[in-house]
Amino acid sequence: MATGTLTIDLDALTANWRALDALSAATVETGATVKADGYGLGAGRVARALARAGVRSFFVAVADEGAAVREALGPGPDIYVFSGHMAGDTDRLGDLDLIPMLNSIEQMTRHFEALPDAPFGVQLDTGMNRLGLEPMEWAAARNIVVPLGPRLVMSHLACADDPSDAMNLRQLAVFEEMTAGIDAPLSLAATGGILLGRDFHFDMTRPGIGLYGGVPFAEAAPVVSLSLPVVQCRDVAPGETVGYGGAWVAEAHARIATLSGGYADGLIRAMGNEAVLFSGDVPCPLVGRVSMDLLTVDVTHLAEAPRHLDILGPGQTVDDLAEAAGTIGYEILTALGARYARRSIGAG
Ligand SMILES: *Cc1c(COP(=O)(O)O)cnc(C)c1O
Repeated sequence: MATGTLTIDLDALTANWRALDALSAATVETGATVKADGYGLGAGRVARALARAGVRSFFVAVADEGAAVREALGPGPDIYVFSGHMAGDTDRLGDLDLIPMLNSIEQMTRHFEALPDAPFGVQLDTGMNRLGLEPMEWAAARNIVVPLGPRLVMSHLACADDPSDAMNLRQLAVFEEMTAGIDAPLSLAATGGILLGRDFHFDMTRPGIGLYGGVPFAEAAPVVSLSLPVVQCRDVAPGETVGYGGAWVAEAHARIATLSGGYADGLIRAMGNEAVLFSGDVPCPLVGRVSMDLLTVDVTHLAEAPRHLDILGPGQTVDDLAEAAGTIGYEILTALGARYARRSIGAG
């Protein structure tokens, strides 16, 4: 038995892609970021559904992820690798026709020596100080690199989830300056950048979280639901405690359901005593500490012992659960564990 059942709504996924695509002018291509195993949902299934919906460019973090997406999609779609051309990646990039986003002079040297005719892109640093060439390095390299025909020249916004952050316009100005006069396709925006407006869209956007139903794309349709089976129910007398450390004390007679699923499944410990689970639309509080494989939930108010409870679904989004745990939706999604049975609904 799996610890829980994760249901992925492929129609919601592709509807979110279409909704984000519709925010850009028709000349802008909307790609899809499917790194971290499709934000925890399964890169193969996610990429296939998006490709059927019309996505032609996919983005992953590392070459191994690119290999998994190429296997799922077959030849044709472009697969860009954010970490670029790392030592040891050459065969994989060349054999599977992956496009490394070259991040440094060192990576450029490696790529042009090892795979001189293979496609590549360039990643520029416009202020995030994480990946890409700095303005001074780019000034020295661009006259050599641009004539070789980069497939994409991109940068990434550090604060796009907050439209009022002055960093957004600063990075936009730096990107425009660094790419002036270049006729390669340009890309700056992920989900947050798409929502900042058309000045940020350039030729290609790279949404991730918005496809999967997370903020900052507030209008996103929810994509994920997660149902956990009840292993057993018990009565607890006033004054008795539940779980590790006796962290929850029953004030009155209570009925406690023990559910399969715990922090080893990405239901991180920090959500203990804050999150709720749902029986249909009736909330049931999580009580006591989250164990590695189990959760304990107060179901005293339910008429019948439940067979399962939902922790993600209409009553609680990925972002609601993230708030209960003091984190962000991205972390909740990408932590969703390998022990769940994953099933998809919808044709995508
Ligand atoms: C993760 C990532 C994206 C996608 O970002 P979202 O906020 O999930 O839309 C796009 N570009 C780069 C460089 C990334 O690292």
